[in-house]
Amino acid sequence: MSKSPRSKIEPRPSRTKIVATIGPASSSQEQLAALLVAGVDVFRLNMAHGGPTEQQPRLAAIRAAAESVGRPAAVLADLAGPKIRLGEIPGGQLRCNAGDRLRFVRPSALALHSSPLVELTASYEPLLDELEKGDRIMLADGIVSLEVERLDADGATCRVVQPGTVRSRQGVNLPGVKLSAKALDETDRRNAVWAAQNNVDFVGLSFVRKADDVLELKSLLAEHNPETQVIAKIEKPEALEHLDAIVAAADGVMVARGDLGVEIDVARVAMAQKEIIAACYRRRKPAIVATQMLDSMTHSRIPTRAEVADVSNAILDGADACMLSGETAVGEYPREAVAMMHRIAMETERPRIVSRFSENEGESTLNPITETTVAAAGRIAEQLGAKVVVVATASGATALSMAKNRRFAFTLGVSDSPATLRRMCLYWGVIPLAGAPTDDSAALLRYVVELGRAEKLLVPGDRVVLVAGTGLPVSRHNMIVVHQVT
Ligand code: PGA
Ligand code: MN
Repeated sequence: MSKSPRSKIEPRPSRTKIVATIGPASSSQEQLAALLVAGVDVFRLNMAHGGPTEQQPRLAAIRAAAESVGRPAAVLADLAGPKIRLGEIPGGQLRCNAGDRLRFVRPSALALHSSPLVELTASYEPLLDELEKGDRIMLADGIVSLEVERLDADGATCRVVQPGTVRSRQGVNLPGVKLSAKALDETDRRNAVWAAQNNVDFVGLSFVRKADDVLELKSLLAEHNPETQVIAKIEKPEALEHLDAIVAAADGVMVARGDLGVEIDVARVAMAQKEIIAACYRRRKPAIVATQMLDSMTHSRIPTRAEVADVSNAILDGADACMLSGETAVGEYPREAVAMMHRIAMETERPRIVSRFSENEGESTLNPITETTVAAAGRIAEQLGAKVVVVATASGATALSMAKNRRFAFTLGVSDSPATLRRMCLYWGVIPLAGAPTDDSAALLRYVVELGRAEKLLVPGDRVVLVAGTGLPVSRHNMIVVHQVT
């Protein structure tokens, strides 16, 4: 028997999936393997902090780490999109004190003259043409805010309203200013093609404004790899206005609270999160909740109580995955942050996670026979307290449908396709299983029971539910088998 369901994994998997952003604190194969063992399911490569040259060795290290741990890991390459970022800051960071004045200048003007004020550049060329006196400029997810005081031919003089420290390449937001930027610039397109050509599972698109932004990226990816999927990052008020169409167009969604909390009133973020997750449920798409989940663990071994509550509440809202950003990319305790997120998930996941959604809400793109059969299998599993529901799936969509109903029994997502196995790493409660027979239901059930017994995951009396098929062409999943281990 080849691959086993995370047999080498301690601790036991949580149903809620963990996405970890990779950076200097987590780029070696050893570090990545340690993060996988601590509970990571998906690694995020932030393309805003480095293109293919920087990411290629990281991707290789992720693949090697997954191989060494013996289970699949998915990769999310996150495109910068029309996100404006600061240029390089001499010395890497800048302290901004209240009342300080600094200037935004065109990159071409930098160092051409000496200015008495600190000069900053931004990655968005038309910035200085689209700014107006009195505009607010938010830096580093709104930690620092500036007001534009004066505009002249070479730049914009700004006054620091809210003080703080900013680092090179951190974000710049202009709340309320409608920018002319395209959804994908040349760098994004190049990075997307690289991701598709390298079998990256998910490509994240930042600052999505409408469904067409998603479709544009999807068609670019499809030219190079039909398996690469799109995660739409909801972080603009325009995206909330077109939420349902964006969710329908995307393969998954990220509640990108970092930028969202600057682009809309930060006080609205928790309710927007619930709204976005509900839209994902209705379209049966996975939802990732991101940013500042365990922020204080960037420099501390223990999270704040509010952070612990945030992770729990995101899970109760219906998040499929929770994400770590700086905590794992540049933090002092990347492994501890993952382990903590995993522990919070384990404590939160209860046999009856009260789903906020009812099974028939919204519309699934799945065949209705499949959808209903899967939902019924989940109910049977719950009533019988089954250990596991087995689903053979070609694309992963059937496993995702199962995941969305939040049954406590793990779903074994059985597939022959390595891309599908990796993709299922993002789906709540789904354990990808390679190497099992997928075309013969009886053989699959025997295989899973034998494997479970060998791994001491199943003992006599345990129940296993199998979503099977009669082989009719309409739906591959139209039968349910309930088995009791003897
Ligand atoms: P980012 O996206 O980290 O790429 O900005 C997440 C967010 O904005 O929350
Ligand atoms: Mn963002």
